Amino acid sequence: MSNVPPYWNDPNRGGFDVSIERVEQVGTSYHIQIKEDIIRPSGGGQAGDRGSLTIEDSCIPIIDTISESNGIVLVSSEEPSPGHEGQLEIDMEWRQSMMKNHTAEHLLASIIKKKKDVAVGQLWIDGDHGSVELLGENIELDTIFEAEAEVLDIIERNMPVESNFVDSREVDSTIRTREGLTEKHEKLRVVTIGEIDSCACSGIHVLHTKDIGFFKILDVKKNERSTHIEFVTGTKAGQYVSDIYNMALRRRYSYPFEMEQLGAVLDKAKQAIDIKQELIEKIINLLTESSSVEQINGVGFRHEYLPGFDSNTLSILANQMTSTKPLVLLLFAPGIKSHLILRVYNMPQEASYYISDAVKQVGGKGGGKTDLFSGGFTEVVDPVEVYERLIQSIQKLIRQ
Ligand SMILES: [Zn+2]
Repeated sequence: MSNVPPYWNDPNRGGFDVSIERVEQVGTSYHIQIKEDIIRPSGGGQAGDRGSLTIEDSCIPIIDTISESNGIVLVSSEEPSPGHEGQLEIDMEWRQSMMKNHTAEHLLASIIKKKKDVAVGQLWIDGDHGSVELLGENIELDTIFEAEAEVLDIIERNMPVESNFVDSREVDSTIRTREGLTEKHEKLRVVTIGEIDSCACSGIHVLHTKDIGFFKILDVKKNERSTHIEFVTGTKAGQYVSDIYNMALRRRYSYPFEMEQLGAVLDKAKQAIDIKQELIEKIINLLTESSSVEQINGVGFRHEYLPGFDSNTLSILANQMTSTKPLVLLLFAPGIKSHLILRVYNMPQEASYYISDAVKQVGGKGGGKTDLFSGGFTEVVDPVEVYERLIQSIQKLIRQ
């Protein structure tokens, strides 16, 4: 290709002399058309370059670059000084972040494509972050995390990232292209990363994979037909991981846990929230219902469903309850491991008479003597069902 823009082969060059051809006010911004194709306009899923333009002694910010039918246009929030010659300084922090994000996107998409039958959909790359949508087959989180590890490995291996210009007719299945691209252009620029990936692309890229520095997936959103992955690279990715780690580390001293157990700690927190909600419902229920004591043939039957309780707190509660009349008391603490206590007061039979068979039938274990029986169940799927079956069985035995 005769005139290759410098941002493809020499993306780290930031300063250029430019000729201003036309200035136009559009809304509150100014569009400054330049003659030279030396700054990357937005397009192909990538944001435009930013920077500053100096004309004579006055410098204005360039907030975006766009491509119009008659050339490259710099967008500024300020009116430029009159003049035909200027010096353009590209914002290299923004540019280099885009380069890192774009090359990382090629790596991620190519690695996942080798594992799954997917196509690249919407793509967005700017100096803050990158995102890519993969269409087709469902991609499990583990596959995405494996791909992240492979991207990090390729960064470490410092592979060259090269631009080549090929005849569109020579493009075969070893080169990733968007549909219709080979028909639209006679020649295509192909970005090749070592042996890993070749992809037709007009974006800007780092020259070696190690320039990406670091790569971290921040979010994965899925629906039936697409997976949307958001990521960051470089120092920004390192900073992000460090902030999250330190957020957990800070809490480690007030609530002792090992960092490797963070997942289990979060699971426990989720469980605690669910239990709290159940407890609140229980308290509301207790406060609004007049009496939870059922009368059967002159015997009181009181049963309480107590989320958040364990075998120990159940015993404490059972020991504090007294009755001068005949009463059967069932206390039930639900959970994957459920616990129960049955206590009888002034009853003709011992506690185990009213409960031991039912506990066995529901798959639990337990024992006790005289007025107290305690038992439990493991791997309970539906504690409410277990509780209701126990109540029905006790009601039957009291009635006899
Ligand atoms: Zn690309």
